[in-house]
Amino acid sequence: MKCVICHGEVIKVMDVREKVVIGNDVVYVPIKVPVCKTCGERYYDRRTMQFLEEVERKLNKTQAGLKEVGKVLMYEEKG
Ligand SMILES: [Zn+2]
Repeated sequence: MKCVICHGEVIKVMDVREKVVIGNDVVYVPIKVPVCKTCGERYYDRRTMQFLEEVERKLNKTQAGLKEVGKVLMYEEKG
């Protein structure tokens, strides 16, 4: 398998944190996906996409299973 973006040949399945945005909150969802070692492009299969959609649907209803690991902040230029 070659990377469609950079044509790199090193693509490895890695543990990554996928960001799911729920309102103003960002939730990291740990998943395993093939990642291009050269450019960082992630290759999601159908099952992973469905899993992420499922998690997003669930999180829109309940916060169960979440723990706070950081904050999401916004910078506002003054003056
Ligand atoms: Zn690549």
